[in-house]
Amino acid sequence: MKCSYCNRKAIYYQRHSGKHLCRKHFINDFEKRVRYAIKKYKMIESGDKIAIALSGGKDSVALAFALNRLYGKRKDVEFVAITIDEGIEGYRPPTVKIARKITSQLGIEHHVVSFKENFGMTLDEMVKLGDKKPCTYCGVFRKYLLNKTARQLGATKLATGHNLDDETQTILLNFLQADIERLARLVPQRVQKGLIIRIKPFREVYEKEVVIYNLLFGLPMDMNECPYSHFPVRAAVRDFLYDFENKYPGRKFSVMRSFEALIPCLKELYPQIDLNACEKCGEPTPKRVCQACVLLEELEKAKGKSMQMSK
Ligand code: SF4
Repeated sequence: MKCSYCNRKAIYYQRHSGKHLCRKHFINDFEKRVRYAIKKYKMIESGDKIAIALSGGKDSVALAFALNRLYGKRKDVEFVAITIDEGIEGYRPPTVKIARKITSQLGIEHHVVSFKENFGMTLDEMVKLGDKKPCTYCGVFRKYLLNKTARQLGATKLATGHNLDDETQTILLNFLQADIERLARLVPQRVQKGLIIRIKPFREVYEKEVVIYNLLFGLPMDMNECPYSHFPVRAAVRDFLYDFENKYPGRKFSVMRSFEALIPCLKELYPQIDLNACEKCGEPTPKRVCQACVLLEELEKAKGKSMQMSK
């Protein structure tokens, strides 16, 4: 099959647009949609220093590469990458290696920040000590470190690799669980002291397109799954969306557009509350003490108990 734009051989059939795309036009289309999302939400502006949350997985690697291609030559925009090493044996070390490799290839300043150095224990150790789910510790401490490190590096925005599939799954999941407050958290934030604004430049591209983009540029890809990953409800929503999109191409965009239409209502229903500085660590929090400090205190207590028992 020929490309819909030229005489070259098509490598991808874009079902939602009905277009066949060759390598060149696939890349053009992909990057055009990334630029569109960036412009639409004013994600990158002159003077910005963008911290890229680079786990070393396929999405974040593609994100670092694409941002560097699209904005790397601009003198008024700067990039820095942050990798959080949670301390998940067998899973995180290979992706940290990939993150180091890609940043060195792209010439992007890179910082690896670990749970062990900052909290005194790895995620694997936290899971053994505490009674919470691994993703609870991981999510809270990762967000905490990303925000803190980005701010310390002087970043104005924090870019994550969430794609259209991730976003629509989260939107639908929140609807299905009637968790509208959590849905409102997806609304672009306003500037608040100490909090670095998050941006998602891949929110208009499908996950499979990210994979193809990586393949076309020969980017390193680690497709392993975290050993703690266990999301039965999200998996059901993902499968449903996948089937629905298969039957009716473009419906993931419909989910996104419906969400966007609701943004003004969500802002009114759940206005973003003013943040305080955590009484313990000074990081921004809606409460008196931030969630990271609360969890850390629980873990320290559990650690003390387990040490006493082993004496
Ligand atoms: Fe962290 Fe793994 Fe859970 Fe993802 S699946 S939040 S990496 S523990």
